[in-house]
Amino acid sequence: MDSGKSVIDIDSIRKEFPILSRGANDRPLIYLDNTATSQTPSTVVDAVVDMYEHHKANVHRGVHLLSREATDMQEATRRRVAAYINASPEEVIFTRGTTEAINLVASSFGQRFSEGDEVILTVMEHHANIVPWQLLQSQRGIKVRVVDIDDRGVLNQEQYRSLFGPRTVMAAFCHVSNVLGTVNPVKDMIAVAHGYGVPVLVDGAQASPHLNLDMKDLDCDFYAFSSHKMYGPAGVGVLYGRRDLLESMPPYQGGGEMIRHVSFEGTTFADLPFKFEAGTPDFVDIAAFARCFDFIERVGMVHIAAHEHELLDYATERMLEIPDLRIYGTAPDKSAVISFNVGDIHNYDLGLLLDRLGVAVRTGHHCAQPLMERFGIQGTVRASFAVYNTLEEVDIFISALRKVTAMLS
Ligand code: PMP
Repeated sequence: MDSGKSVIDIDSIRKEFPILSRGANDRPLIYLDNTATSQTPSTVVDAVVDMYEHHKANVHRGVHLLSREATDMQEATRRRVAAYINASPEEVIFTRGTTEAINLVASSFGQRFSEGDEVILTVMEHHANIVPWQLLQSQRGIKVRVVDIDDRGVLNQEQYRSLFGPRTVMAAFCHVSNVLGTVNPVKDMIAVAHGYGVPVLVDGAQASPHLNLDMKDLDCDFYAFSSHKMYGPAGVGVLYGRRDLLESMPPYQGGGEMIRHVSFEGTTFADLPFKFEAGTPDFVDIAAFARCFDFIERVGMVHIAAHEHELLDYATERMLEIPDLRIYGTAPDKSAVISFNVGDIHNYDLGLLLDRLGVAVRTGHHCAQPLMERFGIQGTVRASFAVYNTLEEVDIFISALRKVTAMLS
């Protein structure tokens, strides 16, 4: 079928992603694992190659030309990210990804927590936003309180509000669920937390590829996201932190780059953002990361989101025609992720057979075991869409799904 409604030229966008024209198991590749990682356009890949071929030198402290160029490129990305998320460059810390960004906050900000303090999480969190807080449970004796969802995968806001108390020291939740696709009303949730004087960390790993981000508008304290999910290179992430909070926090790791002066009598630390960037950063991928924002802004986030919603609506409608298919996550505000099971077929078997037909989906618990438990299941199959997916691909996916469910039933 024809992608009539999209105002963007998907064919020409697809040409920017060379990987999409490779095959998989002697079929055209239908890549529906975008929630795990999205593919990367040539402009970004070329920027990685350009860095290796023309500018590679370690950043900071270098007097020579290449080092100055590499440093300028890294810092240009920092300014690009800052402008994109409406923050200042000192508030943009480069990390390895969302996981490291959350660990940074839990380890450093968490040092002020004491026994009996409480951190509010939600049942739909990725393990990356559960385990770092659990480590504090065992190290500092904090308690974790968990907000539940309804059967559509919508957070219980009444319960959320009721969990705040005199010992609440932090609320941490995802902007968009990587399993359910639920888009949480984070701006309102942040306002609630701030009403109790509680800072908020938002896990934006699944929001940054699909929504415009504005830290000032959200009034967020910490926000974490990963480059590889927003068409960028692997190995780079961002922690946005409110300047006054970051300034008040101890370093996360010690080493080169993050110091002002080191002596055995005592060490002083660098200013923001470098205080939190010990060691050599992934300056090659950071430099290339800037090109992702060019891509996203050129296509337009509004158009990306509209196209993905068209795919989501169409795929959902067609999938529900399949007998015994159950979708997990039917929130009214939902991003283009469909987690499902069919009858009592194991998610792994479905994924394996879909792969043989060229369709790449993810199977299992999606690093959200508490959420799986909430639904009383082991795992799901998850199909997730990006700007370069087409309605034709949805059709191929649906007929592959029909074929494999018939085989396995
Ligand atoms: N949070 C969410 C909601 C995610 O989907 C992911 C990645 N699946 C992460 C955190 C972790 O991201 P990364 O592996 O890039 O650190």
